[in-house]
Parts: sequence; C-alpha cells; structure tokens
Amino acid sequence: MKSAREEQARLLELQGIDIEIARLDYRARTLPVLEKLEQAERGRDAHKDLAIAGGAERSDVEGELRRAESDVEQVVGRIEKDQKLIDSGTVSAKDLENLLGELKSLGRRKEELEEVELEVMVRLEEINGRISEHSSERDRFESEANQLATERDKALAEIDSARRSLLADRQEIEREINKELLDLYLKIKESSGGVAAAKLENGQCLGCHLQINAVEVTRIKALPEDEVVRCDECRRILVRV
Ligand SMILES: [Zn+2]
Repeated sequence: MKSAREEQARLLELQGIDIEIARLDYRARTLPVLEKLEQAERGRDAHKDLAIAGGAERSDVEGELRRAESDVEQVVGRIEKDQKLIDSGTVSAKDLENLLGELKSLGRRKEELEEVELEVMVRLEEINGRISEHSSERDRFESEANQLATERDKALAEIDSARRSLLADRQEIEREINKELLDLYLKIKESSGGVAAAKLENGQCLGCHLQINAVEVTRIKALPEDEVVRCDECRRILVRV
C-alpha cells in the first residue's frame, strides 16, 4: 500500500488522539466514585430490605398483641361480671362460694395473660427499635448515594466534554488521511488493543517495543517514503519519522 508521508504522519496524530480517548473511557469506567456509589447503594438496599422484613415481623407481632389484649379483656369481663353478681347480694351461699373460687382462678389466669401481653409488648418494642435503626441507616446511605451520584455525574460530564473536543479534532485529522490507509488503521486498531500505528525509532517498533534487526531496518529505510510499512512482529503500521 502507498500513502503520502504526510498522511502517515497524520496517522500518528490520530493514534495519539485515539489513545487519549481510550484513556478517558478507561477513567470514566474506573472513577473511584463509582465504587463508593455502589457501596452506598448496596448499603441502602440492604437496610431497606431489613426494614421491610422488620415491618412484616411487626405486623405479625401486632396481631399477637391484639390477641393477647383481647384474651386479657375477656378474663377482665368475666371477673367484672362475677363481681357484679357477688355485689348484687342475690346469690345463694353455695353460688357465692363457687363465684369466689372462680374469681380466684380468673385472677391467676389474668396475671398469666398479662405476662404474655407484656412479653409481646417487649418484643414489639425491640422490633420497632430495629426498624427505626434500619430506616435511618437506609436514609443515611440514600443521601450518601445521592451525593455520590452528583459527584459521578459531574466527573462524567467533564470527561465527556474532553472526549467531545478530542472527537472533533479526530474528525479533522481523519479527513486528511486516505480511506484505504484509514481502513487499515481501524482494522489493526480493533485487533491490536487500540494501537495500530507506531513510530519506527532507533530501529525499534514503538508499538510492540521490539528491536527490528539491522538488515530489515536498512531495507525499510531504503523503501520509497510513501510505502506503507508494517512491523513484522506486531503487524502494526510502522511510521518512519
Ligand atoms: Zn511492532
């Protein structure tokens, strides 16, 4: 392939810009804020899930508490009823004895049920504490995530603006290179990790950094300057400068 010396030199400029763009893309992908943001989002989601699980547990225990309260109320109702009967003075001595016996056992039952009620209330309090802890942690991580997202957007906008300016320069340069050479450059770039054109300097290919043997260097130097040369080792376009 043949291509004017100036076009080959332009290719090196294009390569320089493409390396800059690749650096920017790498920076955009590896911004430290991205990892921090991910951590904050993970923290937020974990505490959100725990708060939700706590909420489900709370409604179960609230149901338990309602049942315990109604058990106590039932016993209290029966105690009041028995007490009214006794207070009315209309029951026989035998019934009175029965009622007093029942009152005694109802009193014990009430105490037992109140203990159950208290135990459920303590559990409910513990769950509420846990929910509020997870909710506030969730909110803390959420506001941290929002702050980090703003930081990320700002950093990405800066990178994007630098990228756009490089792309504009790139377009200018591309116009000055013939299509055949440009296509070859793009093809090699795809398969060679982003570097397709390299300088030949002091007998070394700056693409693969291998020394080219003296005979080959002499041969390359003797070629017409518009001859497009490729490195024997890495197949990149070797630009003689
Ligand atoms: Zn090479």
